[in-house]
Amino acid sequence: MLIKAALPAGGVTRSGTVWFVGAGPGDPELITVKGRALIERAGAILFAGSLVSEAAMRWAPAGCAIADSKDMTLEEMSAWLIAQASRCETVVRLQTGDPGLYGALIELVQPLDAAGVPIQVVPGVSSAMASAAAAVESLTLPEVTQTVIFTRMEGRTPMPEGESLAALAAHHSTLCIFLSITLMGKVTAALSEAGWSPDAPVVVVHKASWPGEEKIVRGTVSTIQALCREAKLVSQSMIIASPTLGARQWTTLAKSKLYDASFTHRFRRASVPATELTQENP
Ligand code: SAH
Repeated sequence: MLIKAALPAGGVTRSGTVWFVGAGPGDPELITVKGRALIERAGAILFAGSLVSEAAMRWAPAGCAIADSKDMTLEEMSAWLIAQASRCETVVRLQTGDPGLYGALIELVQPLDAAGVPIQVVPGVSSAMASAAAAVESLTLPEVTQTVIFTRMEGRTPMPEGESLAALAAHHSTLCIFLSITLMGKVTAALSEAGWSPDAPVVVVHKASWPGEEKIVRGTVSTIQALCREAKLVSQSMIIASPTLGARQWTTLAKSKLYDASFTHRFRRASVPATELTQENP
């Protein structure tokens, strides 16, 4: 039972906790065990549009107040959450993927902090991870790239200094590009500007993990825009550009040092002389 004393400006009240829960990428089975348990004991749930409604409906207890935030302003959302926390112990704000990525988490946490409502965050499976899984791709590969950049194309939200896609793409590491399917022309132009070859592979995953609705479009910097247009992808799509794409078919692959026979770590002794590597730094 998590009822904590809170001291908002108006005087002493008791407040339940608002849990920001990552619902995962779409498949209701990809919510965490903890997230599901919170839904099962929630007195109120505020969910973010159709993406996560099913999980909310499936596990919410009878009598749970359920609202869709799609037509609410941030002020209305925080007012709703604060009001619900004053009458029930467990309030859930259910968001797609992980709440810490493009989820307006802090904008919602601040008014709750100001009202003295305790909050907690439960991570979720991001659509970036679900998209890589759907396409059976590894976002990192030894000696290819060891870095993943989560980013987006500039839209109504301006990009901070130094974060243009062309500048980020200049690293030639893996790029998981959110919120940008309608700006595919700009995405490929930025990759080209950063020196990516027209033949460099790009994969787009639409509705990753949604049972029966997932679509995977594979192309290159020069073909992917037309292929996505043909497939009529206009929303809920993850663009992954990476030198690791397609590695499943490669015949030469540098192997991870973690499984190398010469590499000793806590659970296994090297069968050949050890190197200076450690488990923390394979
Ligand atoms: N917090 C979410 C991202 C929200 S922003 C997360 O961690 O996944 C919304 C963007 O996420 C969409 O424009 C799309 O780029 C991506 N997205 C969300 N769900 C998706 C899915 N099931 N498949 C592919 N992309 C998805």
